[in-house]
Amino acid sequence: GTTLVDVKGLKVHFPVKGGLLGRTVGQVKAVDGVDLFVRRGETLGLVGESGCGKSTTGRAILQLIKPTAGTVKLDGVELTTASSNDIRRKRAEMQMVFQDPYSSLDPRYTIGQIISEPLENFKRGNAKEIQEEVANLMETVGLNPFYVNRFAHEFSGGQRQRIGIARALALHPSFVVADEPVSALDVSIQAQVLNLLQDLQGKFGLTYLFVAHNLSVVKHISDRVAVMYLGRVVELAKSESLYETPLHPYTQALLSAIPVPDPEVELRRKRIILEGDVPSPVNPPSGCNFHPRCWKAQAICREVIPPLEEKQSNHYAACHFPG
Ligand code: SF4
Ligand code: MG
Repeated sequence: GTTLVDVKGLKVHFPVKGGLLGRTVGQVKAVDGVDLFVRRGETLGLVGESGCGKSTTGRAILQLIKPTAGTVKLDGVELTTASSNDIRRKRAEMQMVFQDPYSSLDPRYTIGQIISEPLENFKRGNAKEIQEEVANLMETVGLNPFYVNRFAHEFSGGQRQRIGIARALALHPSFVVADEPVSALDVSIQAQVLNLLQDLQGKFGLTYLFVAHNLSVVKHISDRVAVMYLGRVVELAKSESLYETPLHPYTQALLSAIPVPDPEVELRRKRIILEGDVPSPVNPPSGCNFHPRCWKAQAICREVIPPLEEKQSNHYAACHFPG
């Protein structure tokens, strides 16, 4: 497919305040040069350990957080320099499903009010039309419209996430960022919500950026996967190719930590144990920021940031010595 979302050099730096006067004493480089692209109709999994900047990347792409630098194009339109009016218009096309359905829905509002809010904001019809649309949306996500006047807290986590999904779909977006949409849910409910998201993708031709904290979560739902480390995308490839022949040492380490179902294979497997912790995003290492933990690091790695480049067909890696 063609590219729907194109992100280049995206940075989100937050000031660190310190001392009695609360002066800015540094910058948290939460996102520090992310390159990625999402093709129309695909699911791109965005994976990384907590604190690597994946949620912030998702929010910055949707302009819910103002990027410090870089470009974000949605369907060819540059968002980072767009006026707030243009962003508002684009808002209908790009939506977010949040991680925590318990805190992302306002308990003072009924389900009907929550789902109809974007429809009201964008004046999508009169009161009766909006009411009908809310009932449609509820059915679409597997909720009985009979409960339209109940409050969000009266529902289970899985049902609340369905409400969040209905609200995200209300304006018929083309692009949805799903930020760990099942990680706050019971394991027994997770598959149902994942299946729903996949059904909706087929039905409405949605494009997903699916944020997750480990590679096993996104394996079966992603067409391609991007791996993040300390504010950057280090590898981006088709799922099969990423899981079978990871090119970046960090991805290789992550994959080696996932147990294999076959006990014989599991016994013969080589684990890569990474030394040290993820460094602080306040003072990230120079060059390739993975170099202090990388067993392949050479002098150049400390000095030169490796760009995310196509190393094999459709397989991108940001490493001076891939493979
Ligand atoms: Fe390791 Fe160098 Fe590749 Fe970074 S660029 S992952 S330090 S080999
Ligand atoms: Mg997060």
